[in-house]
Amino acid sequence: MLFYDIKCTACDYQKCSVEFWGVKSYLTEAGDKIDLKGVIGWCFDCNSLSIIESLNDREAIEAKIALHLKTKPKGLKHFLQSLLSSNYRYDLAKINMLAKRLNIIQLRKGKELCLKCGCQNVRYFTQDEEKAMAQDAQMITEHPNCINNGKLYSKRGFYISVAIAPQFYNLNGQQIEGSK
Ligand SMILES: [Zn+2]
Ligand SMILES: [Zn+2]
Repeated sequence: MLFYDIKCTACDYQKCSVEFWGVKSYLTEAGDKIDLKGVIGWCFDCNSLSIIESLNDREAIEAKIALHLKTKPKGLKHFLQSLLSSNYRYDLAKINMLAKRLNIIQLRKGKELCLKCGCQNVRYFTQDEEKAMAQDAQMITEHPNCINNGKLYSKRGFYISVAIAPQFYNLNGQQIEGSK
């Protein structure tokens, strides 16, 4: 993956996007793993760029579930055939995962937090700011709390591959010890 260094024009703040990589999941007490989405934003408690829980995909998920349900074959014979196919099991697993994520969105919407420190004192970037972050030498936004009123800008790195252990969070969005 391509990484970016994000630096400040006026102080020595610097962050490498590699720190935000890695698959994150909610882990229920029953042992279910549910997709956890994170976006890069600003955490005022970490006083740094951080990865922030994102729960804005309810409509996209509902559309995906509707699409999966609609492609169900018509007629009993075809339906029974499809039950035996691996496609069906794949679809079912997919719908199951999407439904679980919908449930999480209902539980956690409005309680999004920093996935590093667990506080809610966060700011999301706008779409324009997000776009700027993934380009070379682009101003992104002001550096919050900068001692010299600098701005954050991105600097393109290069492609690297790193293995990062998956990280797990409970349904309150807190990282489960041992997965840090
Ligand atoms: Zn934080
Ligand atoms: Zn600064």
